[in-house]
Amino acid sequence: MLAMRASRLFFRTLREDPADAEIASHRLMVRAGLIRKVTSGIYAYLPLGQRVVRKVADIVREEMDRAGAQEVGLPIVQPAEIWRQTGRWFEYGPEMWRLTDRHGREYALGPTHEEVVTTLVAGEVTSFRQLPVNLYQIQNKFRDEVRPRFGVMRARDFVMKDAYSFDVDEAGMAASYAAMRRAYTRVFHRVGLDFRPVESDSGAIGGKVSEEFMALADSGEASLVVCEACGYAANVERAEGVPTPQEDAGPEPEKPLEKIRTPGVRTIEELVRGHGVPIRHTAKILFYHASYLGEGGPGRRELVAALVRGDRQLNEVKLKNLLGALSVELAPEDEVRRRTGAPFGSAGPVGLAGVDRLVADHEVALGRNFAVGANEEDRHYLNANAGRDFRPTETADLRAVAAGDPCPRCRSPLAGRRGIEVGQIFQLGTRYSTQLGAYFTAEDGTRRPAWMGCYGIGVTRTAAAAIEQRHDAYGIVWPISIAPFEVAVVPVHVDDEAQRHAAEEIYRTLLAAGVEALVDDRPERPGVKFADADLVGFPVRVTVGERALAEGSVDVTDRATRETVRVPLPQAAERVVERVRQARRELALRADRAEAALEAQAAG
Ligand SMILES: [Zn+2]
Repeated sequence: MLAMRASRLFFRTLREDPADAEIASHRLMVRAGLIRKVTSGIYAYLPLGQRVVRKVADIVREEMDRAGAQEVGLPIVQPAEIWRQTGRWFEYGPEMWRLTDRHGREYALGPTHEEVVTTLVAGEVTSFRQLPVNLYQIQNKFRDEVRPRFGVMRARDFVMKDAYSFDVDEAGMAASYAAMRRAYTRVFHRVGLDFRPVESDSGAIGGKVSEEFMALADSGEASLVVCEACGYAANVERAEGVPTPQEDAGPEPEKPLEKIRTPGVRTIEELVRGHGVPIRHTAKILFYHASYLGEGGPGRRELVAALVRGDRQLNEVKLKNLLGALSVELAPEDEVRRRTGAPFGSAGPVGLAGVDRLVADHEVALGRNFAVGANEEDRHYLNANAGRDFRPTETADLRAVAAGDPCPRCRSPLAGRRGIEVGQIFQLGTRYSTQLGAYFTAEDGTRRPAWMGCYGIGVTRTAAAAIEQRHDAYGIVWPISIAPFEVAVVPVHVDDEAQRHAAEEIYRTLLAAGVEALVDDRPERPGVKFADADLVGFPVRVTVGERALAEGSVDVTDRATRETVRVPLPQAAERVVERVRQARRELALRADRAEAALEAQAAG
């Protein structure tokens, strides 16, 4: 649909912000009449909003097809059995939306489709000759978020593109992954986002290699670190911590263990302030419940003590990955006291009893002479050393990386940024194909599991992310590629025959040239029409007003810069068409250049 008359359009703008809106995209999507809330975390898309979603989806579809992926339609309702086969019926937890049919059989509303697509491929693929294959769909996904918020950004029902690649071996999987990485780079340039791919944790999906595509925005929920020197970028959940020394002069020798009186000291700050211990010579201990997946259901639980240096925060994702646990959560004080006999504020690793494991961050294992709790009220040890005074069961990178920390690649200081996750790509390996029987006969006659990758794009979230990046005091500033209409033609007074006629002429010429145009033929006051055009964010506005028309001209306004130029009527449509084409070309060119750069990089 290229054309629309505003008088016929199902839309209404609001002058007031919705009460529950915390971020710009939520506020503006509601006010501009793109979405309406149906219930918590669930939205209806009105015609203007649905056009945006469809335009994002069309770009995604074009790039997936171009990369050789094939579109399929997979069911939203999925049987519990296949989720039980992979253990994720339990692993997924309360975010999975579950339902029961009239026969008492259990189902899930798909939060993702690894189980369904792998089962499908297992039934169809028998020979290496049928591989590789990459299947994708664009569809509504369901996640029962504990706290839906930010409008469509963290909704319970959202549109996603998900793709799944199947290859004969690991190298094939890596090639499919690289092709998707290029396709994603093209998609996010074409939709006009300022974004970065970052190393990420693969979470509940599994696999080892994973990257997230992050739209950079201060309102983003994800915390990132980026290195401007070498280009390293990572989600802090994943960013590697480089152990830093306690002293510039190098490590000190081990000193004798000493127990001191520390009345009232319960925190690291109190230990540093009250006893003059340098913070890098303190270690804090945290107690976690780690839960593991058992045979087809919840399994054992452990009480785990974890040590990080006093000036660091523990990264729970790293702890969970180290343990191979389903989840980790802080253990309550009374249980820690009961199991270890240690008062919470004076617990420490020396002589600690009652825990299943004691894990330590590299900095604690490598450092010397730490002040730690002595497991008795009002007592701490000075000069505790790993190996001599306590023995961690495991040592690993457990600390949360923060801005200012050294880059793991080049040691330059990392900068902190915030991002909105709009896409994620994973190398899955053979986990799902083994569990669900997606085997094929290889060229040498052996039966082998397919190597898989999976690739998601949040379609509705991409639209919201574009608004987070591009808005001003007047409303949304759409990139041309995903604007609901490229041009709004606004006759100031529709009851003026000359204005109506000129506007109609321009509108028709734009449509004939393939420009998506809306004519605001509503009998509203000019101020209302201009405010609505700015709020909805049409990239170009053509204003047909009395004074300009008297000179034989119209006004053409750029939404982003808000600059207006007066153009003689006979050239107006042509000038607008050229402006629209130029804006479209710029985004396409950005995608081509970025892809060429990736190919050059891959070629070495
Ligand atoms: Zn670096």
